[in-house]
Amino acid sequence: MAKRYQTVIGLEFHAELKTATKIFCSCPYTVAATPNSNVCPVCLGLPGVLPVLNRHAVELAATAGMALNCEVAPYSKFDRKNYFYPDLPKDFQTTQFPLPICKNGYLTIPADDGGEKKVRINRIHMEEDAGKLVHSGDSLATSNYSMPDYNRAAVPLIEIVTEPDISSAAEARAFGELLRLTLAYADVSDVRMEQGSLRCDVNISLKPWDSDQLGTKVEIKNLNSFRAVFRAIQYEEMRQADMLDYGETIVQETRLWNDATGETVSMRSKEDSHDYRYFPEPDLPPIVIDQAWMDEIRAKVPELPTARKARLAALGLSEKETDQIIASTRLARFFDEMMAEFGDAKTIANWLLGDFSRLMGQLDEDAPIPFPAADLSELLTVLKKGEINNNSAKAVLEEMFVNGGKPADIIKAKGFAQISDSSALLGIVQSVIANNPKPVEEFRGGKEKAFGFLLGAAMRESKGQGNPAVIRELLMAELKK
Ligand SMILES: [Zn+2]
Repeated sequence: MAKRYQTVIGLEFHAELKTATKIFCSCPYTVAATPNSNVCPVCLGLPGVLPVLNRHAVELAATAGMALNCEVAPYSKFDRKNYFYPDLPKDFQTTQFPLPICKNGYLTIPADDGGEKKVRINRIHMEEDAGKLVHSGDSLATSNYSMPDYNRAAVPLIEIVTEPDISSAAEARAFGELLRLTLAYADVSDVRMEQGSLRCDVNISLKPWDSDQLGTKVEIKNLNSFRAVFRAIQYEEMRQADMLDYGETIVQETRLWNDATGETVSMRSKEDSHDYRYFPEPDLPPIVIDQAWMDEIRAKVPELPTARKARLAALGLSEKETDQIIASTRLARFFDEMMAEFGDAKTIANWLLGDFSRLMGQLDEDAPIPFPAADLSELLTVLKKGEINNNSAKAVLEEMFVNGGKPADIIKAKGFAQISDSSALLGIVQSVIANNPKPVEEFRGGKEKAFGFLLGAAMRESKGQGNPAVIRELLMAELKK
């Protein structure tokens, strides 16, 4: 169905940077820490303290900018954004306003019309995160009290703001997923949406197709997955189109996505930036990145998803296979290690995307792969040489995941070694012929089909460990005697 109105979408992302410590102090940051255990006078904003900028946070922010095709500013500075909220101990957030660290970037995504689209990135700025309020009871509405936890206060963030170049829920999801993967491969953030290390807000407005003027925009928050982003945009397109049809006025506001009901609900009318009374941060010197430092950062930007995809495609993998492999940095890096160890891209992809992925799915999301690529390479080599069969190889892989161990030891312990020795298999073939006179007679009478039955019987007799090629050859020779 053709859309009645044109949808105009801009996205805003907040990504936590992967530093060991917070942005202006030496407190560590770990998600699971006891509340208010990773705090100090600086990140609590006590009087008389001075912030010191984390050099690694600057490097990661610049790396993100380079990965997202931005210009990285040799000179940028911090500002104070003033507002009161209990999770903000200083009553202002240290952020960047007129001079952000990066600007004018883009990512290219598949567009609705089947072609490609460049979605421009307006800016990336550095800022500190706020703490968290923990509410008693089941929901905020029924909560009697809330307690602040400042562990997350002053964790380094980058905010990434796109231009309103996105036209649909599908394009928004495609952009979000590519941005998430790009930050993951650039190694600047954990990008866990469900844990909040990557957050996405949507700005969306509708306008008549023939109008040059943008409609009133609504901001949607509380989006914990790109599936939620997709659904929230579809819902909001419908809600706003219905209002415009009836001549109602869209209010500029922030709305919260409710994943359970599949609706957005009004949260508050939206502030304009002048309400925050931004002013220059007097306690921090400007960020100056000289050419040598800039070059050093650029030299360390790792291979990014688009380049990785092209490299895997050149190895002969299908688009579906490359997409599935690069969707996980853990899998993609293991694939590269397997290429160095084993070398056959197609076989590696088949194994990694089959049982391997199923077994990985049973581990924790951030658990390391429990064995080195050399071990899987050893298993695939033994399989290729015909020393074990395919089913045994799968069982060995499962054992490597579940209980660990080297392939050779598992094969030995489980008796998986395939029997290729003809003297050992001849007895089996002879007894199958002796015990199945009817199929033997049929085969000798010209009924080719009976051969399959006899072959199957011999494989079973060898408990699946006989080398099928050797058994076939022996059986044929014995039957022709
Ligand atoms: Zn601190």
